[in-house]
Amino acid sequence: MDETMNELISDLRTYLEYIKGMGITSLSAAENVPKKAPRSETLTLADVRTELGDCKRCKLHRTRKTIVFGEGNEKATLMFIGEGPGYDEDTQGRPFVGRAGQLLTKIIESIALPREEVYIANIIKCRPPQNRNPEPDEIESCNPFLMKQIRVIQPKIICALGTFSAQTLLKTDTKITALRGKLHDLEGIKVIPTYHPAFLLRNPERKREVWEDMKKIAELLNNA
Ligand code: URA
Repeated sequence: MDETMNELISDLRTYLEYIKGMGITSLSAAENVPKKAPRSETLTLADVRTELGDCKRCKLHRTRKTIVFGEGNEKATLMFIGEGPGYDEDTQGRPFVGRAGQLLTKIIESIALPREEVYIANIIKCRPPQNRNPEPDEIESCNPFLMKQIRVIQPKIICALGTFSAQTLLKTDTKITALRGKLHDLEGIKVIPTYHPAFLLRNPERKREVWEDMKKIAELLNNA
């Protein structure tokens, strides 16, 4: 047996031990092999919301008015993830309802999707004081709930809005200019970062690039 074959067998053995560790003990059909995080068949968004409760897991609960859980279609194929609630969102308890939110609605509609058909959430669910950047402990407290929402919905595509969302979801320090418009992966789900609508309000000349990213998303959704 040549060296390549030996390496292959060794890799296969390592892989089989790995999946055995995950509780898979037979490989009678290809679908037994986990390709991505399993869709949570039993958990619903309502369950995740109940588990979150009147969350006091981080310091933001002291200054927030409302928890902004997220909204939209539980079976959405496309999910948008922003940074965190601002003043309007904190007041209304809904994501992206201020000026940036109105622009996001137009961006969604630009690919002929009604806003109600997608799901919209944020990296953190409570407004930071003076809209400062979320801090690591706040993200860490909130992240398990966002991940559960993603696993319940299992969208085909996540559009990460802005630096903060893209870098947090993809666990990278790479700049948004380098991340945007490209396909990345989160638990087998395609992630396409683009610019945040609030950034577009300040830099309208960058809308063109977001339009390109949205066209790519539409193509991927149509071919899925
Ligand atoms: N900006 C965000 O990142 N999220 C919102 O919900 C609103 C504004």
